[in-house]
Amino acid sequence: MTAIITGHTRLAGLLGNPTRHSISPEMHTTAFEKTGIDAVYLSFDIKENEVADAISAIRTLSFIGANVTMPYKMAVIPHLDQLTPAAKLIGAVNTIVPKNGKLEGHNTDGIGFMRSLADLEVDPIGKQLTILGAGGASTAIIAQAALDGVKTIHVFNRKDHFYDQIHEKLAKIAQATGCDIALYDLAGPQQQLADSLAASCLLVNATRVGMAPALAEMALPEETLLHPDLAVYDVIYEPRQTHLLKVASERGLKTANGLGMLLYQGAAAFEAWTGKEMPLAAVRPLLNN
Ligand code: NAD
Repeated sequence: MTAIITGHTRLAGLLGNPTRHSISPEMHTTAFEKTGIDAVYLSFDIKENEVADAISAIRTLSFIGANVTMPYKMAVIPHLDQLTPAAKLIGAVNTIVPKNGKLEGHNTDGIGFMRSLADLEVDPIGKQLTILGAGGASTAIIAQAALDGVKTIHVFNRKDHFYDQIHEKLAKIAQATGCDIALYDLAGPQQQLADSLAASCLLVNATRVGMAPALAEMALPEETLLHPDLAVYDVIYEPRQTHLLKVASERGLKTANGLGMLLYQGAAAFEAWTGKEMPLAAVRPLLNN
């Protein structure tokens, strides 16, 4: 890092726990430097009872912006002044934007996912997608995809507490956007998943299956469900190629891992804070370290 900290340097940061593994400090500090913005980005591990104080610090210390990661994406909401429509629908915030003396909560995870589809050369607008998983990443993707104009979204999840909790949220997203959204049991009749995939241009894995310790597993019950016109996206980026992506690419399908979503969620946050485009050519290589 060559940036010189001055009396004018402003602060941006990541609130969560744990945060030390995050690539965001390198991404954003590089982007600030390349765009001539006098700011640095640090990560802050905070405790649950410190969330209110941390949000207060963003106001008091005039942060240029902040990100929020697990486990506080929902806990920050009561401390913010307003939410974007997507953050409201998702019920979670990953980006805080100071605006006219107020703090606005955004969720750029879904925006990041949708933007990254251009790199995969997949355009799901007006079409159907199938998504495995009903947790935080899945909800952000579903809400943004519905807002952007994806026509139909079929969500498959095992019958755990995520399945029970997402019902109401999906109904709210469907009502607000006009998207046709249905939830199915991932362990239910396989024909339902087969029919759904046959009508989809894109399969998204937004479960934790495929990352350690389930490296050799995939949430898709059977690889023969993959058809040649399907693109396969795994939001996991560690490992870079999950078992699902390996199977899909061996079948000749287009595939993407979660690095694009990670990059573009950061780009959307950076733009919301600064009004400038993130210099992707400088930032993208950092993700491959
Ligand atoms: P979460 O805990 O909110 O949701 C976990 C999901 O995985 C649930 O749908 C759960 O039912 C499902 N699941 C867990 N174990 C399963 C199993 N054995 N079989 C079937 N389903 C199972 O987690 P999250 O925050 O939504 O994260 C999910 C994944 O997305 C993680 O791998 C995370 O690293 C990744 N992620 C990537 C990005 C990105 O920018 N690329 C952003 C956020 C999350």
